[in-house]
Amino acid sequence: MSALLPATCARCNGSGWVPTAGDSLRVEPCGCQGDLRRRQRIAASNIPRRYYPNCTFETFYEKNNTVLKSARNRVREFADAWPMTNEGRGLLLIGGCGAGKTHLAVAVLVEIIHSGKSGRVLFCNFQELIQEIQASFDADAAVGKSEILRPLLEADLLVLDELGSVRPSQFVQDIIYYVINSRYNAVRTTIFTTNVPDKADDEGLEHKIGTRSRSRLHEMTELISMRGVDDHRIKNKQTGNII
Ligand SMILES: [Zn+2]
Repeated sequence: MSALLPATCARCNGSGWVPTAGDSLRVEPCGCQGDLRRRQRIAASNIPRRYYPNCTFETFYEKNNTVLKSARNRVREFADAWPMTNEGRGLLLIGGCGAGKTHLAVAVLVEIIHSGKSGRVLFCNFQELIQEIQASFDADAAVGKSEILRPLLEADLLVLDELGSVRPSQFVQDIIYYVINSRYNAVRTTIFTTNVPDKADDEGLEHKIGTRSRSRLHEMTELISMRGVDDHRIKNKQTGNII
């Protein structure tokens, strides 16, 4: 399939409609419309090029590992149930680098778009978000903080990737709380990924994102642990496999 649509679809002549088979008086949407809509949604979702199109449930490599298998199955159930999720309850995927957290989170977004399910879905890397907001404080920045954050508040399903990957400061914790609490109040669903353990000590999530945010996080997500899994990126270097 080519990356760009031809100017005019040969099947429908660009009208978007074709006669229904066996009933020339009726029309149905042309297949090109689904493709177009899908591509628009993928572009609007902000999924990084390195994760699309290769991060799907089908390409998730579970290595015969029970932790990964059960994580994949649970996240898949979540995607299948969308948008009928339980009162905006999302997921908190916790695991080491390379466990496949981001892969599964992206797979949810891709599944929703590919199956034509409703909802504005958005991917956001936490570290890039903080950097973008910090850059917006320059006097000549084109967009301000509230404009950067607005799409995160409005998305029906948000993936916030690598939560806690930035050195904590009051500023960073305030941003996190603002996003988490706004989505909580609006009953919007969020999938968080993090490699920070869900603990209250100095190395834990509470220290990174603050007590209030961690408490909200527990109220609005189901924890899915992917801990104790080897780093597949290191492993694949050894075996020479390409993921
Ligand atoms: Zn067409």
